[in-house]
Amino acid sequence: MKQPVILQTDHCPCGSQKSFGDCCGRYLSRSSVPETAEQLMRSRYCAFLLEDSDYLLHTWHHDERPTVLNFESDIKWLGLKVKETKAGTKHDSEGWVHFVARYRQQGKGSRIDEYSYFTKQQMNGQLMWQYVRAD
Ligand SMILES: [Zn+2]
Repeated sequence: MKQPVILQTDHCPCGSQKSFGDCCGRYLSRSSVPETAEQLMRSRYCAFLLEDSDYLLHTWHHDERPTVLNFESDIKWLGLKVKETKAGTKHDSEGWVHFVARYRQQGKGSRIDEYSYFTKQQMNGQLMWQYVRAD
């Protein structure tokens, strides 16, 4: 399936009501680094939508990271809702985000309901949030 094209001025697919460029776009373009676990989680949702495997692997904890990432060809992401966050602020070193991501696959609607666990890791001399696993 063709990847969606998102302009910097479009609404961010993560549902933040901000423009893509002011929200997840700046993380995906690596011009900025997420300060909170929620920001990282939202940007990873956009990276799944855009099939940006480089970004997904880069923001995945090295102990849990898959070697290759295969995207399902017929999946259409419909929206993200962040239900709850625990810790994960710029002052924390770990955090949790409870989210629901909706998608459609082969004409059938479905959802992922997950508590993601994140930690801050030293990466190239910089502390960065990384996705560890579903808790
Ligand atoms: Zn966003």
